[in-house]
Amino acid sequence: MSLLLLLLIIFFLLAIKILQSILLRTCLILGVKVHIGTTFDKLVEPANRNSSWTVKTTPSSCPVCSYGFDMIIGADGKQNSLPGFPTKEFRGKLALAITVNFVNSGSESETQADEISGVTSVYKQDFFNNLISQHGIDLENLVYYRGETHYFVMTAKKTSLLERKVIKKVRRGR
Ligand SMILES: Cc1cc2nc3c(=O)[nH]c(=O)nc-3n(C[C@H](O)[C@H](O)[C@H](O)COP(=O)(O)OP(=O)(O)OC[C@H]3O[C@@H](n4cnc5c(N)ncnc54)[C@H](O)[C@@H]3O)c2cc1C
Repeated sequence: MSLLLLLLIIFFLLAIKILQSILLRTCLILGVKVHIGTTFDKLVEPANRNSSWTVKTTPSSCPVCSYGFDMIIGADGKQNSLPGFPTKEFRGKLALAITVNFVNSGSESETQADEISGVTSVYKQDFFNNLISQHGIDLENLVYYRGETHYFVMTAKKTSLLERKVIKKVRRGR
């Protein structure tokens, strides 16, 4: 429970970039090897009793392909590349989230901008209506934190993204 609390505090006080660097450094100190630009493709069954489970990766020249494994843990998010495990998918209403980091040059106007810990269009109608009328941007919610970068998370309406050509075409009617 206290670990969860600590993670929550870190999440809200630190820029995501710094948090990711801390986690990566911790992994490296513990001896984790990171192979950048390598995709796990599939598990390869042992050819006989004396050999081990191996993996196929892209590129195939990655040293990981020569390892024998006793255990493999998939941490690939929604991709779920390890076959044979049941998955659950929650399909809610369509929501298109965008995370953006802008360079923070530390100018006076940048340091004066108010941070937004989270607003939704239902509760701050004037704010969101102004965004539409003045900038043609239709959002459902918005978060803004200032740190090493200007960090934004927002959920944009599909029609707004279509108008601004962020989405070129709606394929499955969602
Ligand atoms: C816009 C947005 C905002 C969010 N905000 C918050 C928030 O404020 N607080 C919060 O708690 N959560 C938030 N989340 C959710 C959070 O980001 C996810 O729950 C979390 O990242 C899931 O972590 P994960 O390690 O399971 O998967 P991921 O972060 O998706 O990591 C999976 C990794 O595996 C890699 N991968 C996939 N397939 C393969 C393969 N075959 N071979 C090799 N590598 C592979 C991917 O490239 C990726 O790097 C947000 C998500 C989004 C999209």
